[in-house]
Amino acid sequence: MREVDILVIGAGIAGLSAAARFAGHGETVVIEAEEAPGYHASGRSVTFCHFGIGDPLVKRLTSVSRATFAAPPEPGETPIARRHPALHIARADQKAELDALESIHRTLSPDYRRMSGAEAAEIVPLRTGGEDGIAHALFDPDGYKLDAHAMLQRHLRALRAAGGGADVSGWPFTKTVADGFYFLPEGAGRLLASPMDQTVSDPCDASPEEIDIATIAWRIEQATTMKVSRIAHSWAGLRSFTPTELPVAGYAPDAPGFFWLAGQGGFGLQTSPAMAMAAEALLLGLEWPEILRSRQIEPEALAP
Ligand SMILES: Cc1cc2nc3c(=O)[nH]c(=O)nc-3n(C[C@H](O)[C@H](O)[C@H](O)COP(=O)(O)OP(=O)(O)OC[C@H]3O[C@@H](n4cnc5c(N)ncnc54)[C@H](O)[C@@H]3O)c2cc1C
Repeated sequence: MREVDILVIGAGIAGLSAAARFAGHGETVVIEAEEAPGYHASGRSVTFCHFGIGDPLVKRLTSVSRATFAAPPEPGETPIARRHPALHIARADQKAELDALESIHRTLSPDYRRMSGAEAAEIVPLRTGGEDGIAHALFDPDGYKLDAHAMLQRHLRALRAAGGGADVSGWPFTKTVADGFYFLPEGAGRLLASPMDQTVSDPCDASPEEIDIATIAWRIEQATTMKVSRIAHSWAGLRSFTPTELPVAGYAPDAPGFFWLAGQGGFGLQTSPAMAMAAEALLLGLEWPEILRSRQIEPEALAP
């Protein structure tokens, strides 16, 4: 059995934000019942930071937290928050509540503007006048739209850094120039890797072979200083190739009216804008696009 100093149950924002701080004090492990952090409340939040919620204690906690949201992100990091105003609106009979909110703002966030319902109605289409109309408002330019995913990721990175695990999110797509492997980051702590195998198969719902999984792990360990200790998940897919391994677009010579657009191999996504352009010209007999010609791509090169 493994012993750790601190065990945090739940990788929502509460658990991860605290664990990221605990990690500096001792070995900290977070356990999570779901497959991904933030699966429950933290991933379903409206993610807004404002002073119009909770009692004064919540508002004071919010004001301390706001400094974190206002700070610029680390270079290359997705911002966790962006400034976005909040408008608190009240009917005439709710003036006392708005006054109470204003008194909080006066001490915690003084850069607010009190306004009439009519002034607020120039910002959003509010109904004013009468008993039910909006009579008073408080405009807070200092609200923040938060990014829960970016917040969770920041804490995960901090946890991994404290645990000695590398943050791989900035690593490039890395590929052997010939046969071998490639890998690229999948989030902060995982790599997605492929042995680039091309096993001939009948069309089917492909699944990975144990030997291929072992091969990719071995190749990566041979070429890098990494130890592949865990395969989080694996999958396989089939690609279609022509005998020349070149993609084809054009009418089938032996089947009138049938048009081939096939053989996209392992590059079908990255070539799809150009191939679609070529297919459009060939299918409809349009002029060959200049952009293709300028790159020495002629219809004959794609002929089936
Ligand atoms: C619709 C909606 C709108 C919201 N809007 C806002 C907003 O605008 N601004 C704001 O600040 N907040 C908002 N919130 C609130 C905010 O989302 C939550 O307060 C916050 O996400 C709670 O975080 P948490 O980590 O406590 O909970 P969770 O994110 O639910 O995390 C708890 C985690 O613990 C895991 N877990 C539970 N039991 C176990 C176990 N026994 N073993 C392992 N794992 C376990 C769960 O799977 C879960 O991932 C909103 C919430 C909702 C639902």
